[in-house]
Amino acid sequence: MSGAVGSWINGAPVATAGATHHIIDPATGSTVADYALATPADVDNAVAAARAAFPGWANATPAERSTVLAKLATLAGDAAEHLIAEEVAQTGKPVRLATEFDVPGSIDNIDFFAGAARHLEGKATAEYSGDHTSSIRREAVGVVATITPWNYPLQMAVWKVIPALAAGCSVVIKPAEITPLTTLTLARLAAEAGLPGGVFNVVSGAGGDVGAALAGHRDVDVVTFTGSTDVGRKVMAAAAIHGHRTQLELGGKAPFVVFDDADLDAAIEGAVAASLINTGQDCTAATRAIVARDLYDDFVAGVAEVMSRIVVGDPHDPDTDLGPLISFAHRDKVAGMVARAPEQGGRIVTGGQMPDLPGAFYRPTLIADVAETSEVYRDEIFGPVLTVRPFTDDDDALRQANDTDYGLAASAWTRDVYRAQRASREINAGCVWINDHIPIISEMPHGGVGASGFGKDMSDYSFEEYLTVKHVMSDITGVAEKGWHRTVFNKR
Ligand code: NAD
Repeated sequence: MSGAVGSWINGAPVATAGATHHIIDPATGSTVADYALATPADVDNAVAAARAAFPGWANATPAERSTVLAKLATLAGDAAEHLIAEEVAQTGKPVRLATEFDVPGSIDNIDFFAGAARHLEGKATAEYSGDHTSSIRREAVGVVATITPWNYPLQMAVWKVIPALAAGCSVVIKPAEITPLTTLTLARLAAEAGLPGGVFNVVSGAGGDVGAALAGHRDVDVVTFTGSTDVGRKVMAAAAIHGHRTQLELGGKAPFVVFDDADLDAAIEGAVAASLINTGQDCTAATRAIVARDLYDDFVAGVAEVMSRIVVGDPHDPDTDLGPLISFAHRDKVAGMVARAPEQGGRIVTGGQMPDLPGAFYRPTLIADVAETSEVYRDEIFGPVLTVRPFTDDDDALRQANDTDYGLAASAWTRDVYRAQRASREINAGCVWINDHIPIISEMPHGGVGASGFGKDMSDYSFEEYLTVKHVMSDITGVAEKGWHRTVFNKR
């Protein structure tokens, strides 16, 4: 996997002129591949290609678009081993996760939109004025610029690109420059599936120049983004210069609320799985366990015990549970936040160390008794770290759950249907799980509120980002002198 080409424009790989970038395997520190970064000039070329390709793709029939996407799903299935290998190499995620979650989830998403492309329709038709028939056309918005993060490179690309293609849009995507490989493979497979050149373009460049140039490009129609809240705000500001529509999927700090009637074993298992998935580099990961005081000590002891059995190590080994963090710099950031936690009242129950391994590894970590003001409780850590606090009653539990600027995901653990209903109603988040935390499904939307952004990925709801609403109002009287003309000029 060396000597990769980093960009794909107008249906073909493109030699770009930016600096050489080394893709690093965080499990070993070794180089996976080198490629030349894209430049802002490549962004111009990619947007021009997408603009030229747009009318043809937008005017393809739904069945034609569906056929290409269905073929892409099949080709991605055939290439699953290759996609898994690339994803593991560039992110360090455990092969079991890439095999059972990232790649099949992405393929299912493509499959879903292959079907959904055929049932796009406008809304009811009626004679609201009495003299006209009104109808609604849903039309592809145009050229979509999209920017994605490194934590689930393939899934995030699929979530952004595929509904846009299903809707009839053309796309320019900028993957995180440290993890471009699976996005490039997706573009190649889409071309093999029959997608016309220019409909799906990839520019792998740095955020500060290529990302900024794409977000602020005059000739795109909508900018969609998945990444951190800080960068999301910059992207929105850049798009606002041209008044372009945006969709933002940003950070999270998900609460995990355990009521006193919960199945404690299920909550303990669930908390470990939901906080450690993808080495905690998951925007919906459980990060703030908020636990009824009666269960608190047993929950803390139980989570620490399960965490101590987690296998940390080589991501290529199917027995490995936890791979490295994405980079040594990110590992050091996580370690720094954990190291400062005791100064702010936190008690490190387990973890808080780097194992003696060559890569960017960090042990599963549980921090109890954290103060509501502490950094580890308020800020996104994006590592294998769970914090835990007790609550006194249901009001206190829900207050703590909502005591965050973020609002992406949350869970409530209880056997009481009324508590479950109240939690799902009152927790301010784009998704509330009951007695589980993490599962996602192509048919249902994903997206947050507050500092977690707005708009939806996956499901039919995501089409709202990629379609416009056009009202068509047709006169049905056939007369020259319409009744309303008299309001403007009374010639009689
Ligand atoms: P990031 O914000 O640092 O980078 C995201 C993308 O933005 C990258 O492609 C980067 O190159 C680009 N970028 C950086 N600066 C830019 C600029 N000035 N203009 C335009 N683009 C720029 O995020 P990350 O570190 O790659 O990913 C982790 C973050 O993503 C976390 O905050 C996580 O919660 C979030 N995330 C959210 C979701 C969701 O669905 N809400 C999903 C996955 C990840």
